[in-house]
Amino acid sequence: MPYTHNTIVKLQKSSPAQTEFYQAVEEVLDSLAPVLDVDSRFCQHAIIERLVEPERQIMFRVAWVDDNGNVQVNKGYRVQFNSALGPYKGGIRFHPSVNASIIKFLGFEQVLKNALTGLPLGGAKGGANFDPKGKSDGEIMRFCQAFMSELYRHIGPTTDVPAGDIGVGAREIGYMFGQYKKLTNSFDGVLTGKDLLWGGSLARKEATGYGCVYFAEHMLEGNKDSLEGKECLVSGSGNVAIYTIEKLRELGAKPVSCSDSGGTIYQKSGIDVQSLKQIKEVEQGRLSDYAKRHPDAEYISRDSYPDDGHAVWRFAGQVAFPCATQNELTAADAKALLDNGCIAVCEGANMPCTAEAAELFIQAKIAYAPGKAANAGGVATSQLEMAQNASMQRWSFAEVDQKLKDIMQGIYQRTSETAAELEQPTNFILGANIAGFRRVAEAMIQQGVV
Ligand code: NAP
Repeated sequence: MPYTHNTIVKLQKSSPAQTEFYQAVEEVLDSLAPVLDVDSRFCQHAIIERLVEPERQIMFRVAWVDDNGNVQVNKGYRVQFNSALGPYKGGIRFHPSVNASIIKFLGFEQVLKNALTGLPLGGAKGGANFDPKGKSDGEIMRFCQAFMSELYRHIGPTTDVPAGDIGVGAREIGYMFGQYKKLTNSFDGVLTGKDLLWGGSLARKEATGYGCVYFAEHMLEGNKDSLEGKECLVSGSGNVAIYTIEKLRELGAKPVSCSDSGGTIYQKSGIDVQSLKQIKEVEQGRLSDYAKRHPDAEYISRDSYPDDGHAVWRFAGQVAFPCATQNELTAADAKALLDNGCIAVCEGANMPCTAEAAELFIQAKIAYAPGKAANAGGVATSQLEMAQNASMQRWSFAEVDQKLKDIMQGIYQRTSETAAELEQPTNFILGANIAGFRRVAEAMIQQGVV
């Protein structure tokens, strides 16, 4: 439609060379036609133009000293995308691939994801092109301190509350929090994903993976099916992948794969989650170590991947959980999954499927959940951490897990009911985008042109 098309053309001129950001925006704008057609207010209030332009973008130098006494310089980002529904909220990513395009795609997705949770949260994302791999603990600490030395002036418990993402776990959150506290002289709930000792929430670490599995279970229940006994393909072996695998095991499914940037593990008997945690969480090791300890596990190194995709999706499995990174599942991977009898895809990562792969799943009418619905359990539980911090309370694991289950059920309902209302009941991309958009757009209209 001309309105959305013109917005994308303008965006490409004003924000050149941001491929991942355009991909995320196009997916959303393509699905908004049914609401834009019937409600002229969105056009009249320039909601689409305002939605794709972040409220504030901060880019900064992060200078720090490595163990050899050399000065290193990285680029830091915080994109505060939209605060119509509440304080900015979204993770921080440390990975060498980080650039403005990736942070903006993640921030844009975060706005709609947070809206879809039904919670009072705006959307943001941040990070740096810093590679934590191979760095000493001292180097990680000095980098986190240098990063926070700039970021602290832009965040606050009612302004912007960052969390972790790729390359940022409890250790990095701890170092950033320490620096924030020193600079501001206040002990605030300004970051989530904190250690349990000093303000973290039980079940936050598990929340994204567990939530993703709860969402998959709802999708399958909607088709009078369940996860029990299903062979599941999981990619990644970080926070989201580990707790997806753990919950799948608990529910009687069999996760048979995982991956890292070095290679993929396929284990027909099922991934041993305790061993995976030991290697990844305790030893900070690689999946090649897992293969050495499990002779029945097949290890496919990255050099042997197919040219047109990822080894993990070429195995047989009924449900797929891409939990590593963006665009890790291509059209060729999607075809292989469908040929092998895959009946459901549930995105633990953000935008892991290319636009072409997503289209194939929609056409095939399999159960397919986009990340902004399926992986929203993490941010939702971050909000539960904020609530506990603000009221100086500590809830039990069971209490937080029950709230997470309720939130995931609400997200599933909003997504599936919106898709059904638009007469495309299997199109959860449409359902999630429109349900999230309606909430943000209404709030923006009520708050005037700001
Ligand atoms: P993580 O703990 O750092 O783990 C990331 C995993 O993905 C690792 O196994 C990593 O392998 C792999 N990976 C990352 N970048 C890769 C690349 N370019 N190529 C190949 N493999 C790559 O991060 P995470 O928190 O699990 O996040 C995973 C995904 O979930 C991301 O898309 C993130 O945005 C999304 N997500 C996370 C949360 C959360 O609460 N953590 C919430 C919502 C969404 P290596 O270790 O070899 O790099």
